[in-house]
Amino acid sequence: MQEKKKNTEEKVTNFKCPACKDGDILINQIIYDLPDKDKMLFLKFKCNRCDFENNDIIPLTTRMDAGIITLKITEENDLKSKIYRSPTGNLEISELDLKVEPGPSAEFYYTNVEGILLRFERAISIYLNNLEDGNPEKSEIKDTLKDLQKAMKGQLEFTLKIADLSGGSYIIPEDSSKYTFEKIENLK
Ligand SMILES: [Zn+2]
Repeated sequence: MQEKKKNTEEKVTNFKCPACKDGDILINQIIYDLPDKDKMLFLKFKCNRCDFENNDIIPLTTRMDAGIITLKITEENDLKSKIYRSPTGNLEISELDLKVEPGPSAEFYYTNVEGILLRFERAISIYLNNLEDGNPEKSEIKDTLKDLQKAMKGQLEFTLKIADLSGGSYIIPEDSSKYTFEKIENLK
């Protein structure tokens, strides 16, 4: 089952563009029906003068179920699957030994799988550059970086997992047969 697009409309607002301070912001709204019967509202903001663009996403039927969401990535197209991680979501790619822990400083973010890999790549590169030559950790991290770059080209299969104890995180898969949601019962 694929999510369905509907109710697409573009509206001109009275908001001035934050980038050029001159143009008006256009809002494009798209409501998606997710495979699990939830609905999401995507808002796309665009300036009519400059190339400013921004996105926002709002769950319309907030799922209160806590759970573990997984998505298998086996080909390049899967990297386009959309991800929304709430601040309570714990994101993990065990094949690459990568993790984003929840916490007060954790960002709310909406991106796709590729966007998440890019964030990791940036963080690991910075970490690697700050290591002293001769540090034994260095070759290990270089290997992780190589795997990560393969993953970004769809040449390495991996599973992305979001464990969200409060609910609210989403994956919108390109291929829903690679997606699972497991409810967490009896949370104390
Ligand atoms: Zn503008």
